[in-house]
Amino acid sequence: MAQWGTVKEACGVFGVYAPGTAVAPLVFDGLFALQHRGQESAGMAVSDGDTITVVKEMGLVTSVFDARSLSSLQGHLALGHVRYSTTGPSTWHNAQPVYRAHGRAGFALGHNGNLTNVAALEDEAGMLPGVSGSDSDLIAELLAREFSPEGSEGDGNDLERALLSVLPRLEGAFSLGLMDERRLVAVRDPNGFRPLCLGRLDPEEEGGEGGWVVASESPALDIVGARFVRELAPGEMVVIDADGLRSSWPFAAERVDPRLCVFEFVYFARPDSLLYGRQVHAARHRMGERLAEESPVEADLVIGVPDSGVPAAEGFAARSGIRFGQGLVKNRYIGRTFIAPTQEARIEAVRRKLNPLRESIEGLRLIVVDDSVVRGTTTRQLIKMLREAGAAEVHLRISSPPFRWPCFYGIDTPVRDDLLAARMDVEEITRHLGADSVAYLSLDGLIGAIGVPGAGFCTACLTGDYPTAVPAPAGALVGTLTP
Ligand code: AMP
Repeated sequence: MAQWGTVKEACGVFGVYAPGTAVAPLVFDGLFALQHRGQESAGMAVSDGDTITVVKEMGLVTSVFDARSLSSLQGHLALGHVRYSTTGPSTWHNAQPVYRAHGRAGFALGHNGNLTNVAALEDEAGMLPGVSGSDSDLIAELLAREFSPEGSEGDGNDLERALLSVLPRLEGAFSLGLMDERRLVAVRDPNGFRPLCLGRLDPEEEGGEGGWVVASESPALDIVGARFVRELAPGEMVVIDADGLRSSWPFAAERVDPRLCVFEFVYFARPDSLLYGRQVHAARHRMGERLAEESPVEADLVIGVPDSGVPAAEGFAARSGIRFGQGLVKNRYIGRTFIAPTQEARIEAVRRKLNPLRESIEGLRLIVVDDSVVRGTTTRQLIKMLREAGAAEVHLRISSPPFRWPCFYGIDTPVRDDLLAARMDVEEITRHLGADSVAYLSLDGLIGAIGVPGAGFCTACLTGDYPTAVPAPAGALVGTLTP
C-alpha cells in the first residue's frame, strides 16, 4: 500500500482459514516471520464466522500484540498485515488491515504493492484526487461501493462479486489478502510483482480440522507448521471457505504476464523464502559466484555486508578461492535503517548498525560484497569505517546491476535524482564511495544466478523497462519514462 507521490512500500500479508482452531496466535507468528517486509505498523482482523474484530497499531508485531490482545481475538479466520516504514506520514490511519462495514456485514483488506492507476480510478469513481488517502483505501472504497447490502443476492458471496468487478480495473502491483465473516480471499495481480504463496495446515489430533494459509513469503508458512503448497499464479484469485478452496481468473488473459520483482531475490525477501520454486539464499550465493567470475580482483579477504550481502560474499569467496571472513558486526536489535528521514540521520544510522572487526581486517585487501547500492549513503560511510579500521584496500562488489530507476510497484526507493547510479558512471561512483574499485553483477549474470529458465521478472529499477504504464509524480523523475 502507498501514499502515492511521497512514499512507496512493500508490506507483508498473512491469512489463515482453519475451522476449529483459534488462529490469532498463528497470525502473530506469521506476521513476526514477515516483519522484514514492514516495521511501521501491524494489524490483524479475526472472524469467528459471525463478527470481525480488528486490532492494528503503529509499531512492531511484538509491541502491537501481547498475550492479552491475542486472547481477545477469537476466531478461526484471520488476516494480518505488516506495513513498511516510510519517510511519509506514518499514521494509525494507514495501518492495515483496512476494514469496511455495511450493516452487519464487513470485509477486511491487506495490500502489498502499489497501484499505478490511482488517478484514473479516483476520476472514474468521481472522487477528488487523493481523497482516499492511500491506494489500499481506494481499493477498499471501490469494493465497498460494490458490496452494498442493496446489491446483495443474499448468498453471502458479495465480496467475491465485488472483487470480480473491481479487480480488472486495478493496474500495478497488488498482492491482496481479504476476508469477510466467512471466507478468506487471496489475489495476485496479473504480473505477480509481489510474492504470495499458499500453505496447508494438516488436521490436528486434538481437534483442529486443519485449513489453509496464505502468506507473502514461505517462511511464514514454515513457522506456523503449514506445508508449502504452491505460489499463487499471477492473475489468480483464491477463495477459501467451508466449501474448500477454489481458484478463479478475474483478469483478461492478455494481461497475465509474470514479472516477479527481481529485487525480491536481490534484497527484499528472506533468504529462506521460496520464489519461483528457488530458495533465495542459494540464488544469492550463485549471484556472488557469478560476480567473482565477471569481476575478479586480487585480495586477501572477502566480507559481506550483513545481513543481505553475506550469501553473495560466500559465493564470491567460494568461486574466487579467496578466504571468506567476518569483517563487520551488525547490531542484532536494529531494524532496516535505510529510510531514515535525513541524510545526517542515515549516516548516524550506519554507525549504530555496523561496526568493523578491526583485528580481522587490519592491513588486508578487502573485497566487500553487498547486494545493492541505492543512494550510496550507507556504503560510503561503511567504506570510510573500514579504512579507518585499517583495511589496506576496499574493493566493492555488488551482486546486482546498478539501481537506476525508481520503483512504482511497492519497494521503497528514493526519487531518481537520489539514486547514485542514475547520476554517475562506475568510475564516478568508485570515487564518490571512496573505494579502490567497484563492480556490479550484470543483468544476465543476475537472471542466470536465479536460474529459472523462462521465468519473467520486473527489472524496472535496473533497466527502466516498466511492465505497465507508470505515474510520474512531480519531481520524481528526470527525463521521460515509457512503459
Ligand atoms: P546505500 O549505500 O545508502 O544506497 O544503501 C545500500 C544498502 O541498503 C545495501 O546494504 C542494501 O542491502 C540496502 N537496501 C537496498 N534497498 C533497500 C530498501 N528498499 N530498503 C532498505 N534497505 C535497502
